Amino acid sequence: MNVGFIGLGIMGRPMAGHLADAGHTLFVYDINPAPEDLLAKGATACGSSREVAQKADIVFTMVPDTPHVQAALFGPNGVAEGLSAGKIVVDMSSISPIETKAFAQRINELGCDYLDAPVSGGEVGAKAASLTIMVGGPDKAFETVKPLFEKMGKNITLVGGNGDGQTTKVANQIVVALTIEAVGEALLFASKAGADPAKVRQALMGGFASSRILEVHGERMVKRTFDPGFRIELHQKDLNLALSGARALGVSLPNTATCQELFNACAAQGGKAWDHSGMVRALELLANHEIGQNHRVTEPAE
Ligand code: NAD
Repeated sequence: MNVGFIGLGIMGRPMAGHLADAGHTLFVYDINPAPEDLLAKGATACGSSREVAQKADIVFTMVPDTPHVQAALFGPNGVAEGLSAGKIVVDMSSISPIETKAFAQRINELGCDYLDAPVSGGEVGAKAASLTIMVGGPDKAFETVKPLFEKMGKNITLVGGNGDGQTTKVANQIVVALTIEAVGEALLFASKAGADPAKVRQALMGGFASSRILEVHGERMVKRTFDPGFRIELHQKDLNLALSGARALGVSLPNTATCQELFNACAAQGGKAWDHSGMVRALELLANHEIGQNHRVTEPAE
């Protein structure tokens, strides 16, 4: 298939790489120069999103936020200018479910189908082609694109119509944020009490409190490795979607709001680009205790 990929950052680059590896003819565009490794796999670098849409039958976007998707699709030299009837646009970014419905309608008016297909699994999942993909849109377009999704992910679900994929992703981000907060509180408590947080994490991994977040983010908290991964500013964007959506729906999400405040505190400490496990640093400021402090103090001096 002739496949287009727009947005070649932390996620898009390895995802596009899997499509090239699978033998598809790949046309790529990013506002930054296309990564050499993709060109080496045979991808053609285009000069605009419009050119990608002219050359490809299925066009993927993987850019940071709603305004970036809007620019890539409907801005000058955008996808909409290059589309012809029968093509499919697949947005894999995590963006507003409400704007997504409007984007889908505009693409439909050009005689093309639209799928919203945000992902979970992070950079690790993108590289390992093991992403969870949550899709909204028409059945027929989903069936056409599914073989390509299967090159990038494992758990692929058509949730419903346009917007439902993005709604599912917002739900996912609520669970992830609140779980990071819970793991952070637990390890902070254990550390302040004098236990070795690495051993506490290891012990909890076998029981009911075990989770992927305890495993991956808990380890980052213990090892103090806060390079992204998933940047706090991106998670702030997702929780904004949750909180503004909740306001529009008239529902209360009290702990989502708390997690957003903790991310805001990190941002105020210069941490917008920390990995989201860095939320624990805001908790540490409140506790005046850093995970591992007690334990390190008890280590023999060198
Ligand atoms: P990123 O910032 O690393 O990459 C985004 C890329 O889009 C950049 O290379 C940027 O230059 C490009 N871009 C921006 N505007 C553009 C435009 N108008 N036209 C063409 N290219 C444009 O971000 P990322 O981490 O790859 O995340 C992308 C999306 O995936 C976000 O919506 C994010 O929330 C979501 N996501 C990220 C992760 C993660 O762990 N990083 C996990 C799940 C979902």
